[in-house]
Amino acid sequence: MDRLEQYYGVGQWKIPHLNARHPDPFQVLVSTILSQRTRDEVTYVVADQLLLPHPTPQAIAQMSVREIEKIIRPVGFPQAKARAISELSHILLRDYQGTVPSDMDLLLQLPMVGRKTAGCVLVYGFDQPALPVDTHVHRISNRFGAVKTRHPEETEEALMASMPKELWKRVNPVLVQHGQNLCRPIHPLCPECPIREFCALGRKEQSLPKPRSRRSVSRRK
Ligand code: SF4
Repeated sequence: MDRLEQYYGVGQWKIPHLNARHPDPFQVLVSTILSQRTRDEVTYVVADQLLLPHPTPQAIAQMSVREIEKIIRPVGFPQAKARAISELSHILLRDYQGTVPSDMDLLLQLPMVGRKTAGCVLVYGFDQPALPVDTHVHRISNRFGAVKTRHPEETEEALMASMPKELWKRVNPVLVQHGQNLCRPIHPLCPECPIREFCALGRKEQSLPKPRSRRSVSRRK
């Protein structure tokens, strides 16, 4: 993670949208729901179209479900998402004075909020420890060889068990950025990758020798 953060700290790279554009907990919540089963590029445009003019639960609650649906039509499952976004805005106003709870269990009770969405709200909205696993985190962790899992939920559990809690919140931002730039779903750019010497797939592609040991790696950092 140190290497990747340093690497993406310099130069012109795609930046994960949740970081850059909508850091407010409510906006993270809504944009993460919009991102479900939707390509990043589409989510970015639609999140801006909905949230720039309607940035709060109060503003969304004044819209009809149909109005929301009309704006978010390009994302996957627009009807269900419009209903959920409307409903959760009303719940936040009724139960939380228009704020978003910073608690995993409470977040999970909101419509269309699963562990990934709740984790994103904690990490991006509240800077709290969580390890949301989206498609990028799941893919890269398996390619890298950090986990051997079939489902994101297993990946989350395995990654959390493999590192101290204070590191959890760094995983999603850096791996999403890596997944959007070099470690793409198809044809990852392994020859350019700053962590390829530690990566199972990268070593295989490059026929690089294994690093000496985990201990020797951590001493060098
Ligand atoms: S070496 Fe290739 S597969 Fe491994 S993390 Fe880098 S880009 Fe991804």
